[in-house]
Amino acid sequence: MTETIATKVLVVGGGPGGYVAAIRCGQLGLDTTLVESGRLGGTCMARGCIPSKALIYAAGQFEAMSRAAEAPHLGISLAQAPLLDLAATVVWKDGIVDKLNSGVAALLKRAKVRVIAGWGSFSDAKTCRVSIGAGEIVITAEHVILATGSVPMELPGLPFGGPVISSAEALSLAALPKRLVVVGAGYIGIELGTVFAKLGSEVTVVESRPQILPTYDRQLVEPVRRWLERKGVTVHLEASALGMGRDGAALEIETRGGEGLSLPADIVLVTVGRRPATEGWGLEEMAVAMNGRFVQVDERCATSTRNVWAIGDLVGEPMLAHKASAQGEMVAEIVAGKRRRFDPVAIPAVCFTEPEIVGVGLAATDDAGTTVSMFPFQANGRALSMEAGEDGGFVRIIARESDHRILGIQAVGRHVSELAGEFAHALEMGALLEDVAGTIHAHPTLGEAFHEAALRGLGHAIHI
Ligand code: FAD
Ligand code: NAD
Repeated sequence: MTETIATKVLVVGGGPGGYVAAIRCGQLGLDTTLVESGRLGGTCMARGCIPSKALIYAAGQFEAMSRAAEAPHLGISLAQAPLLDLAATVVWKDGIVDKLNSGVAALLKRAKVRVIAGWGSFSDAKTCRVSIGAGEIVITAEHVILATGSVPMELPGLPFGGPVISSAEALSLAALPKRLVVVGAGYIGIELGTVFAKLGSEVTVVESRPQILPTYDRQLVEPVRRWLERKGVTVHLEASALGMGRDGAALEIETRGGEGLSLPADIVLVTVGRRPATEGWGLEEMAVAMNGRFVQVDERCATSTRNVWAIGDLVGEPMLAHKASAQGEMVAEIVAGKRRRFDPVAIPAVCFTEPEIVGVGLAATDDAGTTVSMFPFQANGRALSMEAGEDGGFVRIIARESDHRILGIQAVGRHVSELAGEFAHALEMGALLEDVAGTIHAHPTLGEAFHEAALRGLGHAIHI
């Protein structure tokens, strides 16, 4: 049986791009239909941001208890080492995902969005078919918002399957791997590598570039590199993964010097990037221009086909949830008749490693027209009082020499992810060093290090 639906707006994909677009469309009174084949919340909620951060937290708890069992720490000792039941940790993590997932379903319902569970496939730019059981729903729309997200990339010699897994499987392992090899030392590789190192796996990282987290500069990454070294994580830089050995129990790599090496592994986690999800849903029928592998969009997220919009990971870097949501909200408002453009001064990026890294705006630069001022967490009372001051962390501000306009802010240190909002806000408001220096920051907080970095840029830091 075929049912037909005519809708004002059709959103395909219910991740942080698509569901936010749909809710905002609903709030604006647009008749909206959302098609999602998996879980509402998308990659971010089901197998990305949220589950990875839950495991990062659990691993931190386990590590702190293990440490107190080894030797008294902060005056606390444990008589026995903690026991890990990874399957139970995964159940706890899934509970958080379930809660958020039902929250999104409720928000969509409140916004009167029609949600259809199934795989959408376009026969032309404005007609989408969804198979439901033995039947089919045919949806025609005035506006289409494409938000199909991204999928993990495979390496040709190392296809997913058996011990070779992607981040999705890594977030739901039934048992702790004794030996884990991570291929790709980017966001996911280092975040999840850190989780398993804290939980007790022997972790080895293989990265093709000359440093881990290559999108950040060396100074920012150094505290993370040192933490991995202290934790006994082996890192092979400028190395290539060749494939699994014949017995399937080791990863064969070529090292920087061109030597072959066999890395014993129970699990090989491949995290070499993600690619836009452009296949299997009729994109080729929509006459939409491409920008390499991504769907091409302008500053309004309009594609080359009239009233077809695209957002999130599907349209390019940075592949971050908050960028997808910001684009989704904007497109909904444009469809409702508002004038909007996607032109943020900066999109914050956070790496939830040990310690954490935040970057907003211009990164380290040798530009003659800029000044760089840093303040170490070692001189920040709040950091020291929660063991966040001794790992080499700092806040760094890059400002224009001529007028002190802040162009970039970075930080590395425990808990600095929570400073991302203040940093982005400063850039969006066009803050000068004087604005940050003139803002009273509460004591004792990590934010005082940002204040002091601004004071230092003006030549009169107090605590250094
Ligand atoms: P997605 O979230 O990928 O959602 C797309 C949805 O579309 C999916 O649910 C899919 O099922 C659905 N879909 C696709 N095709 C169809 C179709 N034809 N019919 C119906 N439905 C379809 N970002 C951050 O900002 N912070 C983080 O801490 C962070 N951590 C991450 C950790 C991991 C392990 C991973 C993998 C990613 C992480 N990301 C993080 C990235 C973040 O998840 C993505 O940037 C974000 O999910 C992109 O949102 P999206 O809406 O574009 O797409
Ligand atoms: P990534 O781009 O962050 O890192 C991939 C790494 O793999 C790079 O360091 C790259 O040099 C390396 N690499 C590529 N090919 C290789 C090869 N053949 N052998 C060895 N190393 C190789 O990608 P990712 O970690 O898979 O994450 C995908 C995206 O998900 C990120 O770009 C990011 O946008 C998003 N993400 C964000 C967060 C966050 O915001 N905290 C967390 C996880 C993921």
